[in-house]
Amino acid sequence: MHTELPDRLIALRRYFESGITKPYAFRKQQLLALKKAVIAHEQQIYDALYADLKKSKEECWVTENGFLLAELNDTLNHLQRWMEPESVATNLLNMPSSSRVLREPLGVVLAIGPWNYPLQLLFTPMVGAIAAGNCVVLKPSEFAPATSLVMQQIIESAFPKEYILYVTGDGATVIPAMMQTFSFDHVFYTGSTAVGRIIYKMAAERLVPVTLELGGKSPCVVESDASISIAAKRITMTTFSNAGQMCVAPDYVLVHASQKTALVSALVNKIQQFFGDNPATSENYGKMINEKQFDRVIKYVTDGTILHGGRYHKETLFIEPTLLEVTKMDSAVMKEEIFGPVLPIISFNTMEEALAIIALNPNPLAFYIFTSNTEKEKQWLGAVPSGGACVNNASWHLTNPSLPFGGRGFSGTGDYHGKYSFETFSHRKAVMKTPTWFDPWIKYPPFNGRLGLFKWLIK
Ligand code: NAD
Repeated sequence: MHTELPDRLIALRRYFESGITKPYAFRKQQLLALKKAVIAHEQQIYDALYADLKKSKEECWVTENGFLLAELNDTLNHLQRWMEPESVATNLLNMPSSSRVLREPLGVVLAIGPWNYPLQLLFTPMVGAIAAGNCVVLKPSEFAPATSLVMQQIIESAFPKEYILYVTGDGATVIPAMMQTFSFDHVFYTGSTAVGRIIYKMAAERLVPVTLELGGKSPCVVESDASISIAAKRITMTTFSNAGQMCVAPDYVLVHASQKTALVSALVNKIQQFFGDNPATSENYGKMINEKQFDRVIKYVTDGTILHGGRYHKETLFIEPTLLEVTKMDSAVMKEEIFGPVLPIISFNTMEEALAIIALNPNPLAFYIFTSNTEKEKQWLGAVPSGGACVNNASWHLTNPSLPFGGRGFSGTGDYHGKYSFETFSHRKAVMKTPTWFDPWIKYPPFNGRLGLFKWLIK
């Protein structure tokens, strides 16, 4: 397969240059074909995600195939309007011209996915790329093999290879092989910050624009006036979903010292309510993807005092939802992205104290603030730069296609979802149309003596 790659990529370029992907009717037809194929493979998707990550059908629907179908429906509903030329104002200098912005497809784009939401995180960017009229190369993660196989079946049943090409294999080999020999028109990467840096460097060599959806440590602040029962419920739900392997999971909790005991006991209560006394047997609780991730996460448990949980079972890749009291900010658990079901709890007395801890890992992908005071809400949102944020909630902002989703700094560059995906995969082409019936002589040389007039026109 990989020796054929250069020819395959050239075939995509030719397909794009034929112009076939540009009309609205073609784009709509492809989105409908994808929708049909995803629906037809519903059971295979559930089986594969269970095999890879022990996800329940309900969790799959909300975070994988249902999420994707919602994105597809939103795009199908709005695409025609998004594609319309956008009229904009024209300045006095250029009167009586008219101005508009056209959305042009970029060309052949590469989307690279991670293993934690293997279907959603590879196919959702593709929806935007198809909607914008591009040809797409898809590279799934090699660490979710069952889901990768179903995705390949979906793609190959719905699209010709010269339009959407599905490329499997070791990312460290196959991605450089493509990016170093072929000039993509955009690379959309979701994964770790470390690999994101490698992708960015390869793209820079050929001046290829990128979107980088990376990871990081998303802080969750629980203020003295927060509703503790709501905070505990929502934090537990998000933190331990997919066994904590979620890019926007609260990575650590900063709780006001006055509420620490109450919060910890409410979190324990919710963990037991959601996953029972033995989460290992819960149908609502997942597993670590592989031994490498298991070994990495289990080490964090020794970086603090276990307040709850701490049990694990390597053969089944199970790690119990674990609450960890942490006091040392230079420990690994507070320096690295946890990406597993271990939640450090740190108490604070003043906002300054909490902000200093957050500043150790700046520009997180998300920031969560639980408070009932709108003034405090404003202060916290203004004080913590982050990709996105929720007030009295965690992670659900990413399920609203009207909101842009993306990071900043080490957590990423660029954004997507809904119209933002369409924009990411479109070039905004500026067009000015000038009538021929009016052609004032002052625009042409010789200019002597017209400076005053120009100053009046251009201020
Ligand atoms: P990863 O960086 O290991 O792998 C992601 C992709 O990169 C895979 O397709 C892999 O094949 C490829 N890859 C791996 N090594 C490569 C190399 N040397 N050169 C080129 N490509 C290479 O990430 P992961 O472990 O699959 O995912 C976990 C990370 O992703 C976490 O940091 C998490 O926060 C982040 N993440 C971010 C988002 C987001 O939306 N911002 C979503 C999910 C996961």
